[in-house]
Amino acid sequence: MVGSSLYQTYNRANLVFERGEGVWLETADGRRFLDCAAGIAVNSLGHSHPALVSALKDQAEKLWHVSNVYQIPGQEEFGRKLVEATFADRVFCTNSGAEALECAIKTARRHFHVKGQPERVDVITFEGAFHGRTLATIAAGGQAKYLEGFGPKAPGFVQVPFGDRDALLAAISETTAAILIEPIQGEGGVRAVDTETLRDLRRICDENGILLILDEVQTGVGRTGKLFAHEWAGITPDIMAIAKGIGGGFPLGACLATEEASDGMQPGTHGTTYGGNPLAMAVGNAVLDVVLAPGFLEGVREKGLLLTQKLSGVVDRHPDIFEDLRGKGLMLGLKCRVTNTALLDHFRNAGVLAVGAGENVLRILPPLTITAEEIEEAVSRIETAAEAMESDMKKGAAE
Ligand SMILES: *Cc1c(COP(=O)(O)O)cnc(C)c1O
Repeated sequence: MVGSSLYQTYNRANLVFERGEGVWLETADGRRFLDCAAGIAVNSLGHSHPALVSALKDQAEKLWHVSNVYQIPGQEEFGRKLVEATFADRVFCTNSGAEALECAIKTARRHFHVKGQPERVDVITFEGAFHGRTLATIAAGGQAKYLEGFGPKAPGFVQVPFGDRDALLAAISETTAAILIEPIQGEGGVRAVDTETLRDLRRICDENGILLILDEVQTGVGRTGKLFAHEWAGITPDIMAIAKGIGGGFPLGACLATEEASDGMQPGTHGTTYGGNPLAMAVGNAVLDVVLAPGFLEGVREKGLLLTQKLSGVVDRHPDIFEDLRGKGLMLGLKCRVTNTALLDHFRNAGVLAVGAGENVLRILPPLTITAEEIEEAVSRIETAAEAMESDMKKGAAE
């Protein structure tokens, strides 16, 4: 925006939302949008979910913040819920995904440090990865566009092509600490790692005595129809970073680890001022209560199938606009033949929000609470957008 005093790091759309309810976002002048972006998989339970609003309000009237030098019962409860529901034995709370990844990387390196193998510091990552915007996580992501101009790339990250098993095996050495991967690349274009490859990665880590770190910041907390995407492959990581959906819109992340993997993280080795404070924990616990309630994830799987089926129809009917549909559950990607950002404008004109991603993909990431009727409405608006794009192209051709 001209005259803005903010860093110009975003090309912001000219949209100002004033309120949100469920899957709907409303601008000050009363325009309503069906939100299939959900803050990039953040508003897992939609906007203004009553359970989250009341958890936050109740906590706000009692206690906002205390330091992590004190006991925080809400944090114990949050940790216990995650430990009971996952592979993990230990949880560290953060405020964001990148911080959860930083904790994951530090945890892996410290594990080898206390094991007497301090040379094991390298983390192997995959092309197209996205792990955040801190200095370490841009090095982990390895994308030139995020590294350029920010000085020397943090050492200790080795990148291999996505899906190249031989390159991966060749990259493993006596300095390797871990393999870090998103079960489905989000920013990279909703590129899924197939279940057999995930199992293979688990085996490769075990055979080489290295750790498997999963970045489930985007795929986690029910997004793919399981609590965590790796469950589809029947494997477990040693360390996992989560964020986005776990806070439902409140800044919250966490690093989860097994007892063994986290054995180096003793008192004084790591910390955070805000991570896991009472306000964040009130919301995080409320999100988990909803997502872990019987039937919730089953509902996400059903809705994921419905959305997949309906969107496949749209892709089939508009072969000049779309190339394919990818992803799992309510983490879907429309690979476009037209420029994804141009199509996104038509989505907005049709009153539906999506998010761009790599490989010319538009991500469809609705709140997990979307209903079947709302799915119908979203798909019909997406179809309207595709038709508008087609008529633009015809006009362009006629001129
Ligand atoms: C968004 C995202 C991150 C970074 O999370 P922030 O909260 O923005 O720091 C890391 N990994 C993945 C897979 C993400 O989608």
